[in-house]
Amino acid sequence: MDTSKTILHNTIMVVDDDSVTRMTLCKMLQGEKYNVIEATSGETALEQLEKQKPDLILMDVLMPGINGFEACQRIRDKYTYNEVPVIMLTGLNDVSSVDDAFDAGANDFITKPINWPLLIKRVRYALRDRQIQLAMEQNEARLNQAQQIAKLAYWQLDKPTQKMLFSDTFYQQFPSKKISLNSFNDYLMLTHPEDRTYVQNKFTEHLIHNKPMEFDHRFQVDHKTYVFHLNIEASNDQNGGASPIQGIVQNITQQRNAEALLEFQKNHDDITGLSNKRHLHSQLQEIINNHTEDKQLIAIMAIGFNRFDEIHHSIDNHSMDILFRCIAQRLKGINSDNILGRYNTDTFICIQKNIDRIDMIEQVVENIQSRLKQAFMIEGQEIFLDSQVGISIFPMEDDSADALITNSIIALNSAKQEIHESICFHSQSMNTRARKFRDIESQIRKAIDENRLELFYQPQIDIHSRQLVGAEALIRLKLSDNNWMSPIDFIPVAEETGLIIPVGYWIIDSACQQIKHWLDSGMHKLRVGINLSAKQFGDRELVNKIDQCVAKYNLPSECIDLEITESIALQNIDQTIDSLQIFRQRGYTISMDDFGTGYSSLSSLHLLPIDMLKIDRAFIKDIGPGGENGTMAKTIINMAHNLGLSVIAEGAEEEHHITFLRHNGCNEVQGFYYSRPLPAKEFYDYYTSYIAKTGEPLQNENLAGNQ
Ligand code: C2E
Ligand code: MG
Ligand code: MG
Repeated sequence: MDTSKTILHNTIMVVDDDSVTRMTLCKMLQGEKYNVIEATSGETALEQLEKQKPDLILMDVLMPGINGFEACQRIRDKYTYNEVPVIMLTGLNDVSSVDDAFDAGANDFITKPINWPLLIKRVRYALRDRQIQLAMEQNEARLNQAQQIAKLAYWQLDKPTQKMLFSDTFYQQFPSKKISLNSFNDYLMLTHPEDRTYVQNKFTEHLIHNKPMEFDHRFQVDHKTYVFHLNIEASNDQNGGASPIQGIVQNITQQRNAEALLEFQKNHDDITGLSNKRHLHSQLQEIINNHTEDKQLIAIMAIGFNRFDEIHHSIDNHSMDILFRCIAQRLKGINSDNILGRYNTDTFICIQKNIDRIDMIEQVVENIQSRLKQAFMIEGQEIFLDSQVGISIFPMEDDSADALITNSIIALNSAKQEIHESICFHSQSMNTRARKFRDIESQIRKAIDENRLELFYQPQIDIHSRQLVGAEALIRLKLSDNNWMSPIDFIPVAEETGLIIPVGYWIIDSACQQIKHWLDSGMHKLRVGINLSAKQFGDRELVNKIDQCVAKYNLPSECIDLEITESIALQNIDQTIDSLQIFRQRGYTISMDDFGTGYSSLSSLHLLPIDMLKIDRAFIKDIGPGGENGTMAKTIINMAHNLGLSVIAEGAEEEHHITFLRHNGCNEVQGFYYSRPLPAKEFYDYYTSYIAKTGEPLQNENLAGNQ
């Protein structure tokens, strides 16, 4: 730094009551090109100081009034050593005055009588020193300010004691003045709980490898979360590992918030806040890439509106934006897991994952449409929207996000323009299925309301005694044209829509009422098989409902046989075992229906508390007159007997089926050979004529049949 120029223009105040000394000093200094201010006493010096701040003061100690020490003291109260340096003029060898001068805040002293050449040098060096100090102070202040602006702080950690030091700028990050950190543990305690282990691991890693590190973590002070960028320097440790660890920490919260905001704006529609087209694509692609559960579907639903142009003409742009925001709000209420986006002005996209069954998609669409149907109040005006939804499904249709979104838009356009339906799948087969499904669902609902459900009964015959020992109750739905709909068509729909629960209760009640009626009419105790579907079997109320019906009609419990299939039983085997045990404790028997069509059946069968196996029709229908293709049936019969179970064969249509089954030890048979399923009244007639042919049956205690 070049100090010579500045020194030339420096101003020096000379304070001395002795006019000779004062004038000599002034002359000398002026001769050296300094500006000089004179003061004749301590008081005048202080007064002058108010008006003009010199670069240096030369002050005599002994003065009337305020002496030099006191004046110096007062100057120090206001100004630092570098702002206004003071050189005291003390008596020669007056050691105590020298001490007093320094105590009062003098920078230096010069003894009287004055050695003039030395004085000039002392003055020059004092001024130069001051200049350097001021420059350093200024630098430090600038650095501090830069650090404050950059929110940068320095830290140091002493390894053995774990004591931690921070520069002032660290504390300046927090509004609270109370924060004080003394140890690494203190630092960790304020680190966000989810980031603590991470921070600790980073420090441990540094200790092991002495590598420089940089990482971000969250910090919490007074419930406010900050993001810190922490840097750990590699230590050039020649101290046997004892040197402290040090580094810098920078508060990057604002930067992060700004980045997050930018990122959000880049990916979202600014009116609704929903994902924009580009972001929707990448979100969907990510879901597809992470999709592992084969059975689960992802539905991409494009939502559009009829007559949108008309609405647009009737309200201004501002109201239109409010309407879009309201639509987004309603869509958000459907399911927090959905991904929602605005595809273009009036087309929204809803992506739903983890769908187990197709009908669930229809339920979501119904929910979307019923929400959007309700009036929107926009600036005092009521607006009604009529929404259409176009749907594409992963993995059925494609595995690229682009194609799936495009397909949903194509389906939406076809809903709007071609088929004028409120919902349209991209895949034609899905459309047909969906239409058929909706049709059957409404048939079931109508049939319930109009009492068009009926139970048919199919006889079950003991193949050895030839006695009629039981019947299976099979539901039928009478259509408006008096035809019957097969349960194969409507039970799955009832199951998917949940209608199976009320329908199931109706079946149980009707079957029990029928048994009661038959018993009252003199029929012997028959075992009546009631089919249970998966949803019914999972219904906690089921056992109570059966108990209530059995009690209501005062039936012997062994009249009730509950049929479940392998797939139902094996869904949750432990729960199945518990439920079956409860049923059996009540005295109901359990049959395993359609046996042989599932795979895991053989291994788990012995675990299940059941009474009877029903061999599926598939193993009976192909048995030839000479017993061809009967191996499976034979194997199942033997296996069931080994497990102590009784066996009933379904679907016996031919006499040679009966012969084969009898010959191979099957216990009972049910099939068209004896009778098709019959309406209750016809079943009663069948029973009476059967009895007339075969005679009164023996009443078995165990209606589940004997091996
Ligand atoms: P499932 O329980 O295995 O019922 C046996 C089916 O085989 C009945 O069909 C019956 O009519 C048919 N069948 C009996 N013998 C023969 C035969 O010799 N030849 C042929 N070709 N078929 C025969 P259905 O009544 O159409 O019932 C079909 C399925 O619908 C039932 O299979 C059962 O899974 C379900 N289902 C029927 N009624 C009910 C019910 O009340 N509740 C529940 N949850 N499901 C039911
Ligand atoms: Mg059955
Ligand atoms: Mg069956």
